[in-house]
Amino acid sequence: MAAIDLRRLRLRPGEARRLELDVELEPFVLGGQRYEALPATVPATVDVTLATGATVFDLALHARLVGPCMRCLGHAEVELDVGARELHDPDARPGDDLRSDYVRDGRLEVDAWARDAIALGLPDQILCRSDCAGLCPVCGKDLNAEPHEHADVELDPRWSALEDLRDRL
Ligand SMILES: [Zn+2]
Ligand SMILES: [Zn+2]
Repeated sequence: MAAIDLRRLRLRPGEARRLELDVELEPFVLGGQRYEALPATVPATVDVTLATGATVFDLALHARLVGPCMRCLGHAEVELDVGARELHDPDARPGDDLRSDYVRDGRLEVDAWARDAIALGLPDQILCRSDCAGLCPVCGKDLNAEPHEHADVELDPRWSALEDLRDRL
């Protein structure tokens, strides 16, 4: 597990240190789909600065996630540069903004922090391409490969119940 033992840094006030470490990323589950980090281990940089009143942590890493398109279930991937900052004052009360949730027992848990920062940086939808047409709601075929419409098809009664509801709203 990637973590930084803060006591061993022995920083003086105003002093900063840059640390490079490898972060292991477990697959992410989003909207019931699984997204693997490729590679699963990524290098991360953490800058630790001992400021007045708190220690400042700055995290930077690059990650690539691969999994199904949320519309058509085809191959999709997303790359992101993550930058995040945490403040920590060991004397602050739990729940205080100056008390980082990622510092436990004097250690900064970089794995957990990186994971949350990536999750926050992800787009709402992971798509094979921004204009993915998705799957046909009637027959389930891929509308990217076979664009089509069903003019005269009876909609599934469950769908028409939804339509009625929408009309009434
Ligand atoms: Zn798609
Ligand atoms: Zn269809």
